[in-house]
Amino acid sequence: MTLTEKSALIVGGGVIGLTSAFRLATEGWRVTMLDPAPAKGATWAAAGMVAPSAEIAPGEEQNYLLQRRALVAWRELSAQLCQLTGDCVELHETGTLLVGWDASDRRLVHQFAQVAGEFDVHPRVVRPTSDAAMFSGISGRVSDGLFVDGDAWLDPDQAVAALSSANRRLGVQVVNALVTEVATSEHGVTATTPEELFAASLGILATGANELPRGAVSSGVHAVRPVRGMTVRVNGIDRSAQPMIRAFVHGRTFYFVSRPGGYGVLGATSEERSEPIVEIGELQRLLRDALDVVPALEGATLLETRLGLRPASVDLQPFFEVLNGGRWAWSSGHYRHGVTLAPLAAHDALTFAGTTT
Ligand SMILES: Cc1cc2nc3c(=O)[nH]c(=O)nc-3n(C[C@H](O)[C@H](O)[C@H](O)COP(=O)(O)OP(=O)(O)OC[C@H]3O[C@@H](n4cnc5c(N)ncnc54)[C@H](O)[C@@H]3O)c2cc1C
Repeated sequence: MTLTEKSALIVGGGVIGLTSAFRLATEGWRVTMLDPAPAKGATWAAAGMVAPSAEIAPGEEQNYLLQRRALVAWRELSAQLCQLTGDCVELHETGTLLVGWDASDRRLVHQFAQVAGEFDVHPRVVRPTSDAAMFSGISGRVSDGLFVDGDAWLDPDQAVAALSSANRRLGVQVVNALVTEVATSEHGVTATTPEELFAASLGILATGANELPRGAVSSGVHAVRPVRGMTVRVNGIDRSAQPMIRAFVHGRTFYFVSRPGGYGVLGATSEERSEPIVEIGELQRLLRDALDVVPALEGATLLETRLGLRPASVDLQPFFEVLNGGRWAWSSGHYRHGVTLAPLAAHDALTFAGTTT
């Protein structure tokens, strides 16, 4: 295989690998994506919030601006997928309602408003008395909240299905295998699985929070650590015409994303751990907090829990690092926002590909 062939290996088939494969394939690259279990990592657990404003946090202005760009990029990507395959990724631009449970939680909401103001985001104070529909299902104890406009959610399963279908049409080859070693030669790259050796002109490692395969040498500037998170899937209350809820409860936070038809996603726990287990205490805290604030969930049915490892970098920012002298790159560190940021990671992949040809 020679460089002129515009061929790429993508190691990892989560949302970052899938969007990167899609972007390269639409530009005429011959793409092979390798993953033993595509889209069953962090992407599987994600709630699908594309919510730059609700996620505002002190010192994270850069990340906020990145997410705003990503929301625009998702609108374009969604339209492109729809046109190509008829499988559309719907962006539900509902905004977010922020509420606090007790006095100290309400102070956190107030502090959020101050930080948001510094980012030029100006939430609106809302009350059950004047905005009853927004508070449907929410405890009468919650006497007010903040509404932030412009936030959205999408269904990550729908996004994975649409991207996979588009990639199939564009000829992306999917190999269900673990890459154990990568290498670079003068003419391109190779990736080794237990069965086979794959070659191409360049390669992208989109391995999320997992360790890099042997032979991938980072400069040491970047590193990722796994931060375990869980979402709980429920059925039974439909608030889909209302904003997503982000609540502060006893100093913790949870969110609730409601989809049409009664399917809902409650999230998310966050533990600096990587064992793939659901701890009862973790689950109980999330459900208790959610039931306090949204008592309407009492009669909902528990469908499943989903667990994933968020790829957290040292500064909690995403990165795209060129490795091994230029033909491999590492796209990771998307932490809590990988679904949101995926179209931007795909853009980085294309820029990188452009520089190697
Ligand atoms: C509970 C939870 C809720 C979240 N909610 C949101 C949200 O609402 N909005 C949002 O924007 N983000 C959210 N996130 C974050 C988001 O899910 C992640 O940032 C994103 O999924 C990371 O995507 P990825 O493709 O890098 O990693 P992953 O989805 O983990 O994919 C990595 C893939 O690489 C494969 N792989 C690893 N090593 C190898 C190898 N050697 N060979 C071949 N394949 C390999 C794995 O099998 C896996 O499929 C959430 C995360 C969690 C855990």
